[in-house]
Amino acid sequence: MPQPPTRREFLHASAASAIVLSRTFRNVMAAQTRPNIVFLFSDDHSLQTIGAYKTRLQTFINEHDLTPNLNRLAASGGVFERSYCCNSLCGPSRAAILTGLHSHANGFVGNGDRFDGSQWTMPKTLQAAGYQTAMIGKWHLVSEPTGFDHWDILPGQGSYYNPDFLTPEGRDHREGYATDLIGDAALTWLRGRDTTKPFLLMCQHKAPHRAWMPPERYVSLLEGVTVPEPDTLFDDYVGRATPASEQEMEIGEHMRMAYDLKVRPPLVDSDTLPGEFGRMTEAQKIAWDAAYVPRNTQFEQAALTGRDLTRWKYQAYMKEYLRCVKALDDNIGRVLDELTAQGLDDNTVVIYSSDQGFYNGEHGWFDKRWMYEESLSMPLIVRWPGEVAPGSRFQPMVQNIDYAPTLVEIAGGRASALVHGRSLVPVLKGHTPDDWRTSIYYHYYEFPADHRVQAHVGVRTDQHKLIYYYPVDEWELFDMAKDPQELHSVYADPAYAAVVADMKVELDRLRAQYRERPYPPASA
Ligand code: CA
Repeated sequence: MPQPPTRREFLHASAASAIVLSRTFRNVMAAQTRPNIVFLFSDDHSLQTIGAYKTRLQTFINEHDLTPNLNRLAASGGVFERSYCCNSLCGPSRAAILTGLHSHANGFVGNGDRFDGSQWTMPKTLQAAGYQTAMIGKWHLVSEPTGFDHWDILPGQGSYYNPDFLTPEGRDHREGYATDLIGDAALTWLRGRDTTKPFLLMCQHKAPHRAWMPPERYVSLLEGVTVPEPDTLFDDYVGRATPASEQEMEIGEHMRMAYDLKVRPPLVDSDTLPGEFGRMTEAQKIAWDAAYVPRNTQFEQAALTGRDLTRWKYQAYMKEYLRCVKALDDNIGRVLDELTAQGLDDNTVVIYSSDQGFYNGEHGWFDKRWMYEESLSMPLIVRWPGEVAPGSRFQPMVQNIDYAPTLVEIAGGRASALVHGRSLVPVLKGHTPDDWRTSIYYHYYEFPADHRVQAHVGVRTDQHKLIYYYPVDEWELFDMAKDPQELHSVYADPAYAAVVADMKVELDRLRAQYRERPYPPASA
C-alpha cells in the first residue's frame, strides 16, 4: 500500500506541478499573444513608384495619390532605405525569401528552375509552431507550396484578366481582375480563419508585372498627364562594361508596341496583342476600347519617330505600370482595413515588399536583373505596433535572405544557423547589432534569356559597388557617393586601385562565407 507523501515530498511535488502549470499558462498566453504576420508582396514594384520612398518620382506619385495605402503603412511603421535582393528575378527572390538562403544554396537560380519544397522554409517552422499559414496569389516556384495550411495561387505568371487559380482541389477559373481577386481571397481567408491561433498570411500580387494590364476602372487614369522623365532615358552606356550596351531591355528599341504599349490593329498585327485580350469578357473589352481606340488614333496621327517615339513609349509604359500600381495599392488598403475591422492592428506585423526593383526608364530601360541600384533595391516597409516607432527610416543594409529568420523570430523561434540571412528583429526594435553586415553579395545567373543581361556577381558596401561579369571577364566599380546613377565605372581609374583590391577581397570573402560555387569557365 503506498505511503502518504511526507510534507517535504508534498511540497516538492506541489512546486513541480506549479512550475508545469506556470509553463502551460505561459504557453497559452504566448499562443494568444504571438503576433500575427501579414506579408503583402508584389511583383516588380520599384521604389520609384512608392510615395513613401525618396526617389525621383516621389512628388509625382504623391501629387497623383497613387500609393496612399502604402504611404499610410509606412507612416505607421518603418521604411528600409537600403533593402536589396540577392538575385533580381521573380522566382529566385521568392525562393530566397522562403529559405533565407542565396540562390546557389536553395537551388532556384533562374526562372526555369523548380523549387525544392522539401528543404527548410520559414512557413514550415511557423506552421510547426502552431501558426496557421496561408499562401494566396502569385507563387511562381513551379512545385506545389509546402508549409501552408491553405494555398490559392496563380499558375506560373498568371493572368491579369479572368485568371485561373490553383488550389489543392485543382484549377479554379475566376472572373474579374487578378489584383482584386487576390485581395478578395485574402479577405475571405482572414474572415474564415481559426481565431484561436496566430497566423501567417502571405498575400502575393501579380501586379505590376509586365504586360501591365490595368483594371477597367483605371484604364484612363493619368490620361493627359506627363510623367517626369529620368535623366538617363537616353543613356549611351559609355563608361560601363560591354554588357550594359548589349542588353535588350531598352524602351526605345525593345519594348513591344502591341504587347507592352497596347497599340492596336491596324497599326500592329493582331497576333502580337497580349493573350490577355482573348480572356476578356465583352464588357471588359468595351471598357478597354473606350480608352484605347481614341489613343490609337492619336498615336497614328502623331506619326512619331526617333526620340519623340521613345518619349511616347515611356509615357505609355509608365501610365500602364502606374495604373496597375494604383489597383495594387487599393488592395493593400483592403487588407489593412480588414485587420482594423477585426481588431488585429495591435498584434499584427504587416510587411510590404516586392520581389525586386524595376527600371522605370532609368538607363532607358524597363525590366530588372542588373545589380545596378533600381533593380537591386527592394521595397521593404514594416509595421509592428509597440516595437517599430512610426515613421522610422532604417539605414542598415538588408537583403531578402533576412526575411525568413526575421519572421521566425517574430513568431518566437529561431531559424537554423545554416540560414544565410540574419533576423531584422533587433534592427526593427532600434538596436542594430554592432556586428551588422557592412556589405551584401549578389549573383544573377540567367543568360542567355529574355533581355540578354549578362550573368554577374557583385558586392556592395556603403560607398562602393563592384560587379564582375564573369562569363566575359569584365569588371565595373562604382563610387555610389559620387556617382549614384552608376554612369562611370572607375574600375580602371588608378585612384581607385586600392578600393578595387579591397572590394575583390570582400567579394571573395562573401563567396567563401556563403559557400558559393566556383566561377564556371569563361565562355569563348
Ligand atoms: Ca519580379
